[in-house]
Amino acid sequence: MSKTRIATALVAVLALTALAGGIALWTVPALQDAVAGRVVAARLGQGDRSALLNDKALHIVLCGTGSPMPDPERANACTAVVAGGHIVVIDTGPGSWAKFARTRLPAGAIDAVLFTHLHSDHIGALGEFAVQSWIGGRKAPLDVFGPGKPQEIKPAMDAEGDAYGVSGTADVVRGFALAYDSDSGFRIAHHGADYLAPEGARMLAHEVETPAPGQSVTVFDKDGLKISAFLVNHHPVEPAFGYRIEYQGRVAVVSGDTKKTENVAYFSKGADLLVHEALNADMVTRIAGALDVAGNHRLAKMARDTIGYHTSPVEAAGIAREANVKLLVFSHLVPPLPNALLRHMFMRGVDEARGDGQTQLGYDGMMITLPAGSQDIGLSDLL
Ligand SMILES: [Zn+2]
Ligand SMILES: [Zn+2]
Repeated sequence: MSKTRIATALVAVLALTALAGGIALWTVPALQDAVAGRVVAARLGQGDRSALLNDKALHIVLCGTGSPMPDPERANACTAVVAGGHIVVIDTGPGSWAKFARTRLPAGAIDAVLFTHLHSDHIGALGEFAVQSWIGGRKAPLDVFGPGKPQEIKPAMDAEGDAYGVSGTADVVRGFALAYDSDSGFRIAHHGADYLAPEGARMLAHEVETPAPGQSVTVFDKDGLKISAFLVNHHPVEPAFGYRIEYQGRVAVVSGDTKKTENVAYFSKGADLLVHEALNADMVTRIAGALDVAGNHRLAKMARDTIGYHTSPVEAAGIAREANVKLLVFSHLVPPLPNALLRHMFMRGVDEARGDGQTQLGYDGMMITLPAGSQDIGLSDLL
């Protein structure tokens, strides 16, 4: 038999074997159970990322890098701080719980949630973070920190005479707790209080006193992990905060939503990492123009309105350069960037404005690791 014939016969035998295997898997339940059992065991075996909590490094995990514009790739605002045995979540935007869960960080280790401000794209998944961290094993109440009642905004009235624009973090927490009250009760009744401690179902709200520009307020300080709030400018959303995170000499800053503001540069001086929001005004202007052409003037106006209270990538690069930040990471990306060309356009002008420091476009699941006693900056993908 020629070599070609032998090869053809071999391929035919392999194809038949694969076909027979496929038919067996599809038709024999015992075989399905055995294969599925192995896959599940393998997945669970590689599941746990608890070691990141106590490896003497400050980890910043992006659990949501999108904005209210619909984006299948990105959840809304969420940044998790993992260090010193704690997980602190800064903002819980819609969709971010699912992203956090997929990182396989231990949800039961979430001690606190910090809100930068009370826009829906930053708070929408609070209920899920609360209930899922409780299911994950958290036994003490979840501390939730954020701004107090809005300042300098004239409340709007509805037809019933109810005012809008009068709630602070305590009201938001109360509202979520009420919405999830039945769920908590059903779960305790179903699984038993020994497994789901009723104390863990609670949230404790803490309204952060608004600091003056150049000043900060410490909101979390445990086991060497210190997080302080500082003021940013997201007018008319007032107050709005950024957070400075310190652990074992390493420093990371999260800007929150803000137009370009000197206070971010001030609190980012010499930081290892600045996670800054970024809205590309040119791209949003083009989208607004296209909406006008399509006759959707209402949405076009609202898209243009957003430009004024956010920071462009080039402006954020200038802030990072001024503050001598080692790594700048863009998050809260507006508009959505579904392909490489749009991502390239989003970064237009950034390198020139940035100078020597590094810049990265953030993505959901991105982890930035700052080991103690080192200048290293590690990047990895948890999803
Ligand atoms: Zn906002
Ligand atoms: Zn936002």
